[in-house]
Amino acid sequence: YTKPKIVVLGAGYAGMVTTKRLTQLLSAEEAEIVLVNKHNYHYESTWLHEVAAGTINPNQARVMISDVINPNRVRLVYDAVVKVDKDNQRVELENGELDYDILVFALGFESNTFGIKGMKENAFAIEDIDSSRQIRDHIEYQFSRYNNSPEKDDASLAILVGGGGFTGIEFVGELSERVPELCKKYDIDRSKVRIINVEAGPTILPGFDEELVAYGKKSLEDRGVEFRLGAKISECTEEGFIVNDDELIKAGTVVWTGGVTGNSVLGNSGFELFRGKVNVNSDLRDPSSDHVFILGDCSWVMNEETGRPYPPTAQIAIQEADTAAANIKALLYGEPLQDFVFDNKGTVASLGKKDAMGTIFEGTKLYGRKAVYMKQIIDNRSLYIIGGPKLILKKGKFRLF
Ligand code: FAD
Ligand code: NAD
Repeated sequence: YTKPKIVVLGAGYAGMVTTKRLTQLLSAEEAEIVLVNKHNYHYESTWLHEVAAGTINPNQARVMISDVINPNRVRLVYDAVVKVDKDNQRVELENGELDYDILVFALGFESNTFGIKGMKENAFAIEDIDSSRQIRDHIEYQFSRYNNSPEKDDASLAILVGGGGFTGIEFVGELSERVPELCKKYDIDRSKVRIINVEAGPTILPGFDEELVAYGKKSLEDRGVEFRLGAKISECTEEGFIVNDDELIKAGTVVWTGGVTGNSVLGNSGFELFRGKVNVNSDLRDPSSDHVFILGDCSWVMNEETGRPYPPTAQIAIQEADTAAANIKALLYGEPLQDFVFDNKGTVASLGKKDAMGTIFEGTKLYGRKAVYMKQIIDNRSLYIIGGPKLILKKGKFRLF
């Protein structure tokens, strides 16, 4: 008898929670567990807009994996996954390889530029700690050089955010608080700095509750955020976005928040993709391999009621991890696997640190202070799931006002 080897790829929400649950469900004698991640830390991707705006320290959003997962129980491999060879049950890493009996593919999201000309080359994207920290530093650099440059070009201070989905909206919310701080620090008049959100649809947050959308938009406008609605970005140049085919909006900082897709390792490994992700079976397995589970932003899970897939969120990724861990145990013991059922607890979006809005439970709307507290509870809960109360005390959010 050789112990089955379970390999988890990715230490995001889905990978971390699956690993934790597996250590609770299986003894060290029952299976070997390996967790592979590019870095030696996990990060809260739901906080990255704050890192990118510079309203939290990047270290608050990251957690050393060995602080929350026992390295004596789980083998931790810090390396980048290059490819999965499904036929030979092997994972190719940048610096080695691993074989597996059961694989959990949870490498998360990548920015999706939909092939828009110049976007990859000329715009930043909020993808991980490194890319978010770079945005923060780039914005600060633009402020620091302004008074030193002879031309004092106001456009160099402008921050252009392409895409008015939740990421774009939460990001401009943080910027509306960061910009006044930077203006003070670098002796720049606030009126010289534009924060512009560009959205192709007729409203921001298309499809979200109209009343909340109106509330969020007004709250941000009151703090100086400009919206360009019905403005489709067709190109990104070194100077800014080209919208509606011929208008150039110039800015010194350009960030694309227009959409995400599954990790490109999926495509490189020959998985059958539907818009960049795998349509998984109801038990969360890859339809073409019984021993591969695909979770979080790398998979589509169908909402049977609407006939459309659920949007990719941390909330669903965490819930999928619970089901996947239970199904892995069932698979090892030849027992029937369970279907994943999503329990939607709602959506709360921050609008900076002092305002927020969203819906919880079956449509209860929250605004303002109540929503801010609810968002903090959600953010702290995610820390709790990954590292217990100790992690909340270390990295949690407890802002009162
Ligand atoms: P990820 O969290 O993306 O984790 C993937 C992990 O894999 C990372 O650790 C990464 O470093 C690692 N990795 C990637 N490639 C490789 C490789 N080749 N080799 C090795 N390791 C690799 N959802 C909500 O529910 N609520 C929110 O409030 C919310 N806010 C958000 C705010 C922002 C700014 C963003 C960008 C997203 C937000 N989301 C939110 C969505 C949520 O973050 C994602 O749905 C969630 O992170 C998906 O989890 P995951 O485990 O699939 O992947
Ligand atoms: P998204 O796909 O939800 O939004 C992208 C937006 O960009 C859309 O409004 C789209 O109309 C717009 N867009 C696309 N192409 C465009 C173009 N050419 N020109 C102008 N506008 C264009 O992506 P996201 O905001 O990155 O969110 C990704 C996922 O993460 C979603 O599932 C979201 O729900 C989740 N998320 C949740 C929260 C939260 O719950 N608080 C916060 C952030 C992200």
